Order: sequence, then structure tokens, then C-alpha cells
Amino acid sequence: MRVIFLGPPGVGKGTQSEFIAQKYHIPKISTGDLLRESVDRQTSLGKEAKGFMDRGELVPDIVVIGLVEEKLQSPECQNGFLLDGFPRTVTQADELSSFLQRNGKSLDRVVYFSLPKTEIVKRISGRRSCPECKAVYQLESIPPRRDGMCDVCGIPLIQRNDDKPETIESRLAVYQEQTEPLIKYYKNRGILSELDGSGSVAAVQERLVVLLSQPR
Ligand code: AMP
Repeated sequence: MRVIFLGPPGVGKGTQSEFIAQKYHIPKISTGDLLRESVDRQTSLGKEAKGFMDRGELVPDIVVIGLVEEKLQSPECQNGFLLDGFPRTVTQADELSSFLQRNGKSLDRVVYFSLPKTEIVKRISGRRSCPECKAVYQLESIPPRRDGMCDVCGIPLIQRNDDKPETIESRLAVYQEQTEPLIKYYKNRGILSELDGSGSVAAVQERLVVLLSQPR
């Protein structure tokens, strides 16, 4: 299975992709996670990306495409993959498509997670993560057992810089301008399926499993 999870930030793609990657035994490639890892390790790529990320802007295509292609070439991706947060621009989608073509492969499906904007803002505002193990919580839907503390590491959770209120609006504007055109892009190619992203994690998960078991 070669699948893309497309949708606005905070819609629940990351949470659902963990589950789907395990269920279908495919690696999950999250460009956001890869970039944050590079920022934490203070690599030159991380240093280049950090400013864009903190401002809620997209990291330049060339950087992200290189990162993804390197991953896709690894042996673990030969039998499928789940892309979370990539592509985010038409250029990235075009590059992905020619990369797959060069390698005799194609995409099976693009799942577009939809959710009203008010709900998106609410979900992002309540997102917290563990600085150590990177586990992601949501204060309402996936709360930690102990207030503000990671269940696994027992240390205080943090809020991502780009999840702070002043950055959320610009991320949503960037999504609308640069990523939303991909809905039509993949619809025109006949591989887009829309998923209602509202409700509990379990409810979305159930809808997603049904969707993935059906023909496109
Ligand atoms: P995410 O965790 O997917 O919300 O990504 C966090 C941030 O990483 C985004 O706001 C961008 O700055 C950057 N980023 C992640 N994926 C991409 C991508 N495909 N293209 C450009 N920038 C990205």
C-alpha cells in the first residue's frame, strides 16, 4: 500500500497514521517529524528549516523532497509507505510522482481528512508533546494520565512553537494557499478519498479502516 494522508495541520493525520502504519506493516514517513528531528539534532538541514517552521511557513521544496526521496529509497519502503504531511505543494506532488514513475511504482490512494476550521484550531491549541519520546497528546481527546506529564517519560509536556496561537493562523493560511490545491490535483487523478475527520480518535479510526478496505 502506497498512501498519502492529506489535510490541514491538526486534523489528526499524525495520530491516525501511527495506527495505520502498524496495522498494515508499512513505514510512516512524516516530514514534520523528520524536520523536527533534524532541528533537535542541529544538523545543517535542521538549522535551515527551523526559521520556516517557527514562522509556520513551508520549508523549501528542494529540502523536503530530498529528505523524502532518501527515505523512499530505503529497503523498508519497498513494499509500501504512508506519507503524512507530504506532499504539501504541487511541486512536491509532481516530484513524488516522477520519482515513483522512475522506480516503476504508483500511488494507491490519497486520503483527504476534512474538518471545520474552528475544530482544527481547537485541536491544535490543545496539542502537547513529550520533548523526550515525542509522544503526542491532545488535552481533550488524548489527555495524559497525569496533568501535563508524559505517560511514558513522566516529564513535563511542551507545546510546539508552531502550535502557539500566533502561528496557527499563518499555518492555516499557508495550507489553504499551497496545499489545498492538491485536493483537486489528486481528485483529477482519480485517487482521492475524503474522510470525515470529526469525532473521537476511535470514530475516525473506524471510518478510516472501512475506507481503506474499500476500492477507491
Ligand atoms: P507538521 O508536523 O506536518 O505540521 O509540520 C510542521 C512544519 O514542518 C510545517 O509547518 C512546515 O514548516 C514543515 N513541513 C512539514 N512537512 C513539510 C512539507 N512537506 N513541505 C514543507 N514544509 C514542511
